[in-house]
Amino acid sequence: MTGQTAIVVGAGAWGLPTAAQLALRGHQVTLVDRYGVANELSSSPGPTRVWRHADTTPVLCRLGLRSVGAMDRLAERSGVETYRKVGVLWRDADPSRLLATLREEDVEHVEVDAADVGRWLPGLTPNERPAVWTPLGGCVLAAHSMAAQAQLFNGAGGRLLKDEVVGIDASSGTVELRESGRLVADTVVVAPGPGAVALLPMLDVDLPLVPHLEQVVHFGSPDDPHRYDDVPCLFEGAYGASPGFYSMPTPGLGFKIGLDAQVRDWTPDDLDRTPSEQRTRETAVEAERLGFITDPVLDAQVCSWTDSPDGLFVIDRVGRVVLACGDSGAGFKFSALMGEILAGLAEGDEPDADVASLGLDRFDGPIAPQRRSGHFL
Ligand SMILES: Cc1cc2nc3c(=O)[nH]c(=O)nc-3n(C[C@H](O)[C@H](O)[C@H](O)COP(=O)(O)OP(=O)(O)OC[C@H]3O[C@@H](n4cnc5c(N)ncnc54)[C@H](O)[C@@H]3O)c2cc1C
Repeated sequence: MTGQTAIVVGAGAWGLPTAAQLALRGHQVTLVDRYGVANELSSSPGPTRVWRHADTTPVLCRLGLRSVGAMDRLAERSGVETYRKVGVLWRDADPSRLLATLREEDVEHVEVDAADVGRWLPGLTPNERPAVWTPLGGCVLAAHSMAAQAQLFNGAGGRLLKDEVVGIDASSGTVELRESGRLVADTVVVAPGPGAVALLPMLDVDLPLVPHLEQVVHFGSPDDPHRYDDVPCLFEGAYGASPGFYSMPTPGLGFKIGLDAQVRDWTPDDLDRTPSEQRTRETAVEAERLGFITDPVLDAQVCSWTDSPDGLFVIDRVGRVVLACGDSGAGFKFSALMGEILAGLAEGDEPDADVASLGLDRFDGPIAPQRRSGHFL
């Protein structure tokens, strides 16, 4: 199938790569976003995200491994460096479930004794908890990868329209825009991040999504901006009163830490992304405990993610619409892969078993929460 018309709603980490893929495959693509590519109100701004192939959920492990190829294809095609393979150290009270999944899915890893963590992450203060080292993985250069996708999208003749979607008819492929009126296409991809809360009812999909606002904080010194470039990513599971955190180097800037706890619920009219000073202080306490961060706070950023009822993504087809939402805080590492998967579905491909397992029919019966959010169990 080539030369079809496609509308992609949402220019975030899932929608933009899909639009780029469809344009590269010869389709006429209109990408619609009310605020533009990876905007500050979306889930996708900022320079970096953790990129890992270790997960307690087997399907996310498998998709993580598949994302390596997609990320490499993006880098090769665009000539842009899109990730840094610095490895990920995951420290937790009981990593047995993680280890079981890594063995089952054949993900390269090393079990690390509590006292030995400094061998894998130099300078990290040991505590009583063991860790798991996964060499494949590191940080996605998120802003670079979005720029690479935008370059491919523009180069392939894609059109970006800044407008708000206020209606969708899945049977006819019609999208109503607030300013520009009505667009019709052979296929529509809807990847609206937290905007799914308003758009799902238009598709007759009744799914309780819960978007949150979360905060990350950079530590570093402008005098030595490359100090943390090669430091591995670190996951620290919840302990005591701490919710745990995820952390990563942002090359050329510093080291980034995000506590695994929301700043507040996301609501559609709340456009304030001012960082919480209290959250910054709490994050600084964690940073100090680690031992290898001695620099002060550089900056902080608030952005959104959207939990699905079971903490896994929602990918399905509804009439002429391909729907992708419920990123559950773990979606950026899959962005290049997601572009390939969603573009394939938009072209009429049947989902493979892993993608099919993320479909809407899993919510037909009682919903079993499998994960608390995208980052940890
Ligand atoms: C603090 C934080 C840390 C994170 N850490 C990681 C990490 O370490 N690793 C990882 O893999 N992931 C991480 N994530 C998650 C990752 O960033 C998201 O999963 C990903 O960005 C989701 O992208 P998206 O395209 O689904 O949504 P979005 O980026 O929200 O894009 C959706 C777009 O749709 C547009 N839109 C919505 N409704 C409408 C409408 N009606 N009309 C027009 N446009 C509309 C919006 O303007 C938006 O631009 C983190 C997220 C946050 C917030």
